[in-house]
Amino acid sequence: MEFNPPRDSAAEARLWRAAREFERMHPAFVSMTYGAGGSTRDRTARVTGELAQETTLLTVAHLTAVAHSVAELRSIVGVYADAGIRNLLVLRGDPPGDPLGEWEQHPEGVEYAEELVRMVRDLGDFHVGVASFPQGHHRSPDLDHDTRFLCAKLRAGAEYSITQMFFDVDHYLRLRDRVSACDPVQGEKPIIPELMPITSLRTVQRAEELSGRPLPAGLLTRLERAAGNDPEANRDAVREVGIEIATEIGQRLIAEGAPCLHFITLNFAKATTEVLTNLGYTVAPTPVEA
Ligand code: FAD
Repeated sequence: MEFNPPRDSAAEARLWRAAREFERMHPAFVSMTYGAGGSTRDRTARVTGELAQETTLLTVAHLTAVAHSVAELRSIVGVYADAGIRNLLVLRGDPPGDPLGEWEQHPEGVEYAEELVRMVRDLGDFHVGVASFPQGHHRSPDLDHDTRFLCAKLRAGAEYSITQMFFDVDHYLRLRDRVSACDPVQGEKPIIPELMPITSLRTVQRAEELSGRPLPAGLLTRLERAAGNDPEANRDAVREVGIEIATEIGQRLIAEGAPCLHFITLNFAKATTEVLTNLGYTVAPTPVEA
């Protein structure tokens, strides 16, 4: 399950409610995304540390290179280490403000995630993951280039990758094949697929931003058909179809041997829990006060 740094105390309370719900499902791990902004950064580090220390959830902290010097990056890793976090998802990050804008390396920073993987591994005993892109990263000229540098990040010391969200499982399977063909040793490392249940027509746009691609026409048609002429009145029907789509994707991924599923939760537990329940995972009952 992936969380986002809460922006205020109400959002933080919501995040904790979701975290407590997920604890009952015993996920393999949860992760917290990272934004480069100052105050968000401090809150992110604090909440990520608290998740690691005050819950049973194995917590992975995302770490991005953008807008940071190497000295700052080392210090952030130190903050996480002090909070007992040994698992980092190491990323380059996108230019703040415009993810598709021109990438500028910090004058005393790193250019690519691969360098950050090496840095983190040199700093201590961390478990490191990296990002992978089933349809290629938007800055990669082609899939061969994309696969070559993904393999380089894995060779630099990453133990697994988590994919960008996608809707067509074939893209995930092809990524897996490409990595194995490029480097059979790195091909043995888990590629963890990321998915997000669509719960309304509004979340379609968010899903498209996160996956970097338009929603496949067939899926959009299913959601629009459920919405009919009155999306507001039919929002339960749209949500039901969104959960159904995520369940179908999850089922196929499991059948194809995906190591686990990583859900973008937007800090809500309900939709992810419903998909997991459809997939046969059980939720421990809520303890009853004596
Ligand atoms: P890199 O691996 O550095 O790759 C960037 C581009 O450079 C790619 O096109 C790659 O092929 C190419 N490249 C790599 N090495 C070389 C080389 N040596 N020579 C030439 N080209 C090279 N962003 C955030 O800001 N915060 C988050 O918390 C966050 N979490 C994410 C979680 C997941 C699972 C994913 C998939 C993405 C996440 N992102 C996050 C977005 C990510 O930071 C961006 O997609 C970013 O543009 C790419 O990061 P990267 O680590 O893959 O970069």
